Amino acid sequence: MLFNQLGLSAELLRAVESQGYEEATPIQQQAIPLILNGRDVLAGAQTGTGKTAGFTLPLLQHLQYGTVNRRRIRALVLTPTRELAAQVADSVRTYGQHLPFRTAVIYGGVSINTQIARLKKGVDVVVATPGRLLDHLQRQTIDLSAIELLVLDEADRMLDMGFIRDIRKIMKALPGTRQNLLFSATFSTEIRRLAADLLNSPTEIQIAVHGKPADGIHQLVYPVDK
Ligand code: AMP
Repeated sequence: MLFNQLGLSAELLRAVESQGYEEATPIQQQAIPLILNGRDVLAGAQTGTGKTAGFTLPLLQHLQYGTVNRRRIRALVLTPTRELAAQVADSVRTYGQHLPFRTAVIYGGVSINTQIARLKKGVDVVVATPGRLLDHLQRQTIDLSAIELLVLDEADRMLDMGFIRDIRKIMKALPGTRQNLLFSATFSTEIRRLAADLLNSPTEIQIAVHGKPADGIHQLVYPVDK
């Protein structure tokens, strides 16, 4: 399926085109129309499936077509690691290159003051790891009361890394009415519980095929003597 069949805006299609993508991946084909329709989504998808564009493109379109609350944080993406946060923020900037939105990336291990200065200038999208985000909330250097869209990326890894309590505390700072997306490669009981608490009548999509390696991984078998 081509990207222009998914209901994306001309600005986003131009950005996708400049990346050289021809066809939308299966997760993009399924997730993008659902998210554009305002649905909560529970998605099973590994890294390498194109999941980042799968939530970033409709997230940007959501911001594009609601022009109120400019420079207030309207979309929040939580990720388990700073590497992933930086990568997702890069995607938001790349796909949003023809749109006027500002993105801040928030993670630990670096100066909090630089992040505070950036937040003070006003941003539309925040991509964050839970620990440092909570730190900002406790210092009252971030306002999440205008969040309309929340994404939990690699939720299973966030739980593995012990972020569940931080995530639950962050949820309390968000408005009750919002769209929620949860991406996870695996679905443990804990993930199901978090999803049940977080998502409103979600549509479930499953992309990860069990036993299939991520794209880009080549596996070779060399039979050898005992
Ligand atoms: P992700 O699963 O989001 O980490 O994406 C894996 C890689 O696939 C990234 O390098 C993307 O730039 C690339 N990618 C995403 N969507 C597409 C697409 N529709 N066609 C080709 N490559 C893509």
